[in-house]
Amino acid sequence: MTKRRPIIGGNWKMQTDVESGMLLAGDITDSIEACENCDVVVYPPFIYLQAIDSVLGQSALVLGAQDIWHESNGAFTGEISAEMLQDIGVQSVLVGHSERRHILGETYEIIGKKVHASLAGGFQTVLCVGETLEQREAGNTLRIVLAQLKSGLEGVSVEQMQMVVIAYEPVWAIGTGKTASPEDAQSVHKEIRECVRGLYDEIVADTLRIQYGGSVKPDNAAELFTCPDIDGALVGGASLSADSFNAIVTAACSS
Ligand code: PEP
Repeated sequence: MTKRRPIIGGNWKMQTDVESGMLLAGDITDSIEACENCDVVVYPPFIYLQAIDSVLGQSALVLGAQDIWHESNGAFTGEISAEMLQDIGVQSVLVGHSERRHILGETYEIIGKKVHASLAGGFQTVLCVGETLEQREAGNTLRIVLAQLKSGLEGVSVEQMQMVVIAYEPVWAIGTGKTASPEDAQSVHKEIRECVRGLYDEIVADTLRIQYGGSVKPDNAAELFTCPDIDGALVGGASLSADSFNAIVTAACSS
Protein backbone atom coordinates (compact mmCIF):
# COMPACT_ATOMS: atom_id res chain seq x y z
CA MET A 1 0.00 0.00 0.00
CA THR A 2 1.17 3.52 -0.84
CA LYS A 3 2.28 5.57 2.14
CA ARG A 4 0.11 8.66 1.86
CA ARG A 5 1.30 12.11 2.91
CA PRO A 6 -0.95 13.41 5.71
CA ILE A 7 -2.90 16.59 5.10
CA ILE A 8 -4.18 18.90 7.85
CA GLY A 9 -6.65 21.66 7.05
CA GLY A 10 -7.69 24.50 9.30
CA ASN A 11 -11.22 25.68 8.52
CA TRP A 12 -11.59 29.09 10.14
CA LYS A 13 -15.24 29.38 9.04
CA MET A 14 -16.73 32.86 9.72
CA GLN A 15 -14.19 33.62 12.43
CA THR A 16 -11.09 35.76 13.04
CA ASP A 17 -10.60 39.34 11.87
CA VAL A 18 -7.88 40.67 9.65
CA GLU A 19 -5.39 41.22 12.46
CA SER A 20 -5.97 37.99 14.38
CA GLY A 21 -6.06 36.02 11.11
CA MET A 22 -2.69 37.38 10.02
CA LEU A 23 -1.17 36.64 13.44
CA LEU A 24 -2.58 33.11 13.40
CA ALA A 25 -1.28 32.43 9.88
CA GLY A 26 2.13 33.82 10.87
CA ASP A 27 2.32 31.54 13.92
CA ILE A 28 1.36 28.50 11.85
CA THR A 29 3.85 29.42 9.15
CA ASP A 30 6.70 29.62 11.67
CA SER A 31 5.85 26.28 13.19
CA ILE A 32 5.36 24.22 10.02
CA GLU A 33 8.91 24.92 8.86
CA ALA A 34 9.94 22.00 11.06
CA CYS A 35 7.33 19.71 9.57
CA GLU A 36 8.34 18.30 6.22
CA ASN A 37 6.18 15.19 5.93
CA CYS A 38 2.76 16.73 6.00
CA ASP A 39 0.68 19.17 3.92
CA VAL A 40 -0.94 22.03 5.84
CA VAL A 41 -3.73 24.22 4.48
CA VAL A 42 -5.68 27.10 6.04
CA TYR A 43 -9.16 28.16 4.91
CA PRO A 44 -9.72 31.76 6.08
CA PRO A 45 -12.89 33.73 5.31
CA PHE A 46 -12.91 34.92 1.67
CA ILE A 47 -12.52 38.54 2.65
CA TYR A 48 -9.20 37.94 4.41
CA LEU A 49 -7.61 35.65 1.80
CA GLN A 50 -5.34 38.31 0.35
CA ALA A 51 -4.23 39.57 3.75
CA ILE A 52 -3.42 36.02 4.83
CA ASP A 53 -1.61 35.33 1.56
CA SER A 54 0.66 38.30 2.26
CA VAL A 55 1.81 36.56 5.47
CA LEU A 56 2.54 33.20 3.83
CA GLY A 57 5.45 34.37 1.65
CA GLN A 58 7.56 31.37 0.62
CA SER A 59 6.18 29.20 3.40
CA ALA A 60 4.81 25.72 2.75
CA LEU A 61 1.48 26.71 4.26
CA VAL A 62 -1.17 26.44 1.55
CA LEU A 63 -3.96 28.99 1.09
CA GLY A 64 -7.44 27.51 0.78
CA ALA A 65 -10.98 28.80 0.23
CA GLN A 66 -14.04 27.59 2.14
CA ASP A 67 -16.24 27.48 -0.94
CA ILE A 68 -16.46 28.29 -4.65
CA TRP A 69 -19.22 29.16 -7.10
CA HIS A 70 -19.55 26.95 -10.16
CA GLU A 71 -20.04 29.64 -12.83
CA SER A 72 -17.07 31.68 -13.99
CA ASN A 73 -18.67 35.12 -13.94
CA GLY A 74 -21.96 36.93 -14.20
CA ALA A 75 -24.91 37.96 -12.11
CA PHE A 76 -24.34 35.81 -9.01
CA THR A 77 -24.50 38.30 -6.15
CA GLY A 78 -22.16 37.48 -3.31
CA GLU A 79 -20.47 34.54 -5.01
CA ILE A 80 -16.78 33.92 -5.79
CA SER A 81 -15.58 32.11 -8.92
CA ALA A 82 -12.62 29.83 -9.61
CA GLU A 83 -10.96 32.62 -11.63
CA MET A 84 -11.22 35.01 -8.67
CA LEU A 85 -9.68 32.44 -6.36
CA GLN A 86 -6.86 31.78 -8.85
CA ASP A 87 -6.24 35.51 -9.02
CA ILE A 88 -5.32 35.73 -5.36
CA GLY A 89 -3.24 32.57 -4.99
CA VAL A 90 -5.73 30.06 -3.60
CA GLN A 91 -4.68 26.44 -4.16
CA SER A 92 -7.21 24.35 -2.26
CA VAL A 93 -11.01 24.56 -2.05
CA LEU A 94 -13.53 22.99 0.36
CA VAL A 95 -16.71 21.74 -1.30
CA GLY A 96 -19.82 20.40 0.39
CA HIS A 97 -18.94 21.26 3.98
CA SER A 98 -21.78 20.11 6.23
CA GLU A 99 -22.61 23.70 7.20
CA ARG A 100 -23.16 24.49 3.53
CA ARG A 101 -25.22 21.33 3.04
CA HIS A 102 -27.34 21.66 6.16
CA ILE A 103 -27.48 25.38 7.03
CA LEU A 104 -27.25 26.87 3.54
CA GLY A 105 -29.18 24.10 1.81
CA GLU A 106 -26.66 23.09 -0.85
CA THR A 107 -27.94 20.16 -2.85
CA TYR A 108 -26.03 17.18 -4.25
CA GLU A 109 -26.41 18.80 -7.67
CA ILE A 110 -24.85 22.13 -6.66
CA ILE A 111 -22.05 20.35 -4.82
CA GLY A 112 -21.30 18.22 -7.90
CA LYS A 113 -21.09 21.36 -10.04
CA LYS A 114 -18.78 22.99 -7.53
CA VAL A 115 -16.49 19.94 -7.52
CA HIS A 116 -16.19 20.22 -11.30
CA ALA A 117 -15.62 24.00 -11.21
CA SER A 118 -12.95 23.59 -8.58
CA LEU A 119 -11.14 20.82 -10.46
CA ALA A 120 -11.38 22.69 -13.75
CA GLY A 121 -9.82 25.67 -11.94
CA GLY A 122 -6.85 23.45 -11.01
CA PHE A 123 -7.53 23.47 -7.27
CA GLN A 124 -6.96 20.71 -4.81
CA THR A 125 -10.60 19.90 -4.10
CA VAL A 126 -11.65 18.68 -0.67
CA LEU A 127 -15.05 17.03 -0.93
CA CYS A 128 -16.68 16.88 2.52
CA VAL A 129 -19.13 14.09 3.35
CA GLY A 130 -20.79 13.00 6.56
CA GLU A 131 -23.98 11.81 8.21
CA THR A 132 -26.20 13.57 10.75
CA LEU A 133 -26.88 12.07 14.18
CA GLU A 134 -30.37 11.07 13.08
CA GLN A 135 -28.98 9.28 10.03
CA ARG A 136 -26.36 7.49 12.15
CA GLU A 137 -28.92 6.40 14.73
CA ALA A 138 -31.17 5.08 11.98
CA GLY A 139 -28.28 2.92 10.75
CA ASN A 140 -27.88 4.95 7.55
CA THR A 141 -24.31 6.22 7.95
CA LEU A 142 -22.80 4.37 5.01
CA ARG A 143 -25.80 4.82 2.77
CA ILE A 144 -25.61 8.62 3.20
CA VAL A 145 -21.82 8.98 3.15
CA LEU A 146 -21.39 6.81 0.05
CA ALA A 147 -24.29 8.54 -1.72
CA GLN A 148 -22.65 11.94 -1.07
CA LEU A 149 -19.33 10.52 -2.23
CA LYS A 150 -20.65 9.01 -5.47
CA SER A 151 -22.70 12.05 -6.30
CA GLY A 152 -19.81 14.44 -5.58
CA LEU A 153 -17.43 12.40 -7.75
CA GLU A 154 -19.80 11.84 -10.65
CA GLY A 155 -17.99 12.62 -13.90
CA VAL A 156 -14.62 13.15 -12.16
CA SER A 157 -11.88 11.43 -14.16
CA VAL A 158 -9.07 9.18 -12.93
CA GLU A 159 -6.60 12.00 -13.70
CA GLN A 160 -8.67 14.56 -11.79
CA MET A 161 -8.78 12.26 -8.76
CA GLN A 162 -5.13 13.16 -8.12
CA MET A 163 -6.44 16.60 -7.07
CA VAL A 164 -9.24 15.26 -4.85
CA VAL A 165 -9.14 14.82 -1.09
CA ILE A 166 -12.14 13.46 0.82
CA ALA A 167 -13.01 14.81 4.28
CA TYR A 168 -15.22 12.46 6.29
CA GLU A 169 -16.94 14.68 8.84
CA PRO A 170 -19.80 13.18 10.83
CA VAL A 171 -22.12 16.16 11.32
CA TRP A 172 -22.81 15.25 14.95
CA ALA A 173 -19.08 15.55 15.72
CA ILE A 174 -18.54 18.99 14.17
CA GLY A 175 -18.12 21.71 16.77
CA THR A 176 -19.77 19.56 19.45
CA GLY A 177 -16.74 18.22 21.31
CA LYS A 178 -17.89 14.67 20.39
CA THR A 179 -15.38 12.82 18.24
CA ALA A 180 -16.03 9.58 16.42
CA SER A 181 -14.02 6.82 18.05
CA PRO A 182 -10.94 5.90 16.03
CA GLU A 183 -12.62 2.52 15.29
CA ASP A 184 -15.84 4.12 13.99
CA ALA A 185 -13.95 6.71 11.94
CA GLN A 186 -11.60 4.07 10.51
CA SER A 187 -14.47 1.84 9.47
CA VAL A 188 -16.14 4.65 7.48
CA HIS A 189 -12.81 5.73 5.95
CA LYS A 190 -12.18 2.14 4.83
CA GLU A 191 -15.62 1.97 3.19
CA ILE A 192 -14.98 5.27 1.41
CA ARG A 193 -11.69 3.90 0.06
CA GLU A 194 -13.33 0.65 -1.04
CA CYS A 195 -16.08 2.60 -2.78
CA VAL A 196 -13.45 4.65 -4.63
CA ARG A 197 -11.67 1.40 -5.56
CA GLY A 198 -14.89 0.25 -7.19
CA LEU A 199 -15.49 3.56 -8.96
CA TYR A 200 -11.88 3.96 -10.18
CA ASP A 201 -8.93 1.62 -9.69
CA GLU A 202 -6.37 0.37 -7.17
CA ILE A 203 -3.98 3.29 -7.64
CA VAL A 204 -6.65 5.96 -7.19
CA ALA A 205 -8.01 4.20 -4.09
CA ASP A 206 -4.62 3.62 -2.50
CA THR A 207 -3.35 7.16 -3.12
CA LEU A 208 -6.57 9.01 -2.19
CA ARG A 209 -6.19 10.97 1.03
CA ILE A 210 -9.15 10.85 3.40
CA GLN A 211 -9.20 13.37 6.24
CA TYR A 212 -11.26 12.95 9.37
CA GLY A 213 -13.08 16.00 10.73
CA GLY A 214 -15.15 16.50 13.86
CA SER A 215 -13.79 17.96 17.09
CA VAL A 216 -10.20 16.95 16.36
CA LYS A 217 -7.98 18.29 19.14
CA PRO A 218 -4.35 17.83 20.19
CA ASP A 219 -5.40 15.15 22.70
CA ASN A 220 -7.28 12.91 20.24
CA ALA A 221 -5.36 13.57 17.01
CA ALA A 222 -2.46 11.14 17.46
CA GLU A 223 -4.78 8.18 18.08
CA LEU A 224 -6.92 8.99 15.05
CA PHE A 225 -3.77 9.22 12.91
CA THR A 226 -2.73 5.69 13.85
CA CYS A 227 -5.72 4.37 11.84
CA PRO A 228 -4.62 2.98 8.47
CA ASP A 229 -7.21 4.84 6.37
CA ILE A 230 -7.10 8.21 8.18
CA ASP A 231 -4.71 10.52 6.34
CA GLY A 232 -5.02 13.70 8.36
CA ALA A 233 -7.73 15.99 9.62
CA LEU A 234 -9.96 18.89 8.73
CA VAL A 235 -10.00 20.98 11.88
CA GLY A 236 -12.47 23.70 12.84
CA GLY A 237 -12.40 25.03 16.41
CA ALA A 238 -8.88 23.85 17.23
CA SER A 239 -7.49 25.55 14.10
CA LEU A 240 -8.19 28.98 15.63
CA SER A 241 -5.37 28.63 18.13
CA ALA A 242 -1.85 28.29 16.72
CA ASP A 243 -0.82 26.14 19.69
CA SER A 244 -3.56 23.56 19.24
CA PHE A 245 -3.42 23.55 15.42
CA ASN A 246 0.38 23.22 15.43
CA ALA A 247 0.13 20.34 17.91
CA ILE A 248 -2.26 18.52 15.54
CA VAL A 249 0.13 19.16 12.64
CA THR A 250 3.00 17.78 14.70
CA ALA A 251 0.94 14.67 15.52
CA ALA A 252 0.30 14.13 11.80
CA CYS A 253 3.97 14.66 10.95
CA SER A 254 5.03 11.98 13.36
CA SER A 255 2.29 9.51 12.41
C1 PEP B 1 -15.08 21.53 10.52
O1 PEP B 1 -15.49 22.66 10.51
O2 PEP B 1 -14.85 21.00 9.44
C2 PEP B 1 -14.84 20.87 11.80
C3 PEP B 1 -14.47 19.63 11.79
O3 PEP B 1 -15.03 21.62 12.95
P1 PEP B 1 -14.61 21.19 14.47
O4 PEP B 1 -13.18 20.72 14.41
O5 PEP B 1 -14.78 22.43 15.28
O6 PEP B 1 -15.52 20.09 14.89
